[in-house]
Amino acid sequence: MTCAFYPGSFDPMTNGHLDILKQAMAVFDDIVVGIGVHPGKVPMFSFEERARLIADCAGGASGAGLRVVAFDQLAVDAAVAAEASVIVRGLRDGSDLDYEMQMSGMNGVMRPDVTTVFFPASPATRPITATLVRQIARMGGDVSAFVPANVAEAIRGKTA
Ligand code: ADP
Repeated sequence: MTCAFYPGSFDPMTNGHLDILKQAMAVFDDIVVGIGVHPGKVPMFSFEERARLIADCAGGASGAGLRVVAFDQLAVDAAVAAEASVIVRGLRDGSDLDYEMQMSGMNGVMRPDVTTVFFPASPATRPITATLVRQIARMGGDVSAFVPANVAEAIRGKTA
């Protein structure tokens, strides 16, 4: 049984995050999505809202078990706390690769027992970033092509 930890902000969950989550759920037995919470940073969605949106859109995606937790420490430490031996990250482009290689290299020194596994972004969802989704939504744009239907609905509720 391999448990994988997928850390991020997920504010909100996008089709890009969901693409990586589904790829990981097809490979690993259990996935723990870790929502990073930073004191002092005001998110668009609370932890509880983000957790519900993730569970609702990904819950039935495959046979893999899915859990959503909050974390405020290093991702490697949160992975160990979740009893995961793998950290999942998505790669969109070369700048993701450069940054992720640095992070996985340093994480590997701090926690040699946790391996980082990268999944490639699918072509259709590769350009999507949660930051741009929030910006478009705040300016009254339609984000329904970039996020799962339940997230689009929740964004409409926030911005109406
Ligand atoms: P971060 O704050 O590290 O960017 P995010 O919540 O934005 O956290 O993303 C979490 C993970 O999801 C990261 O591994 C990131 O590369 C990946 N990700 C985000 N958007 C996409 C996308 N459109 N396609 C593939 N992976 C993505």
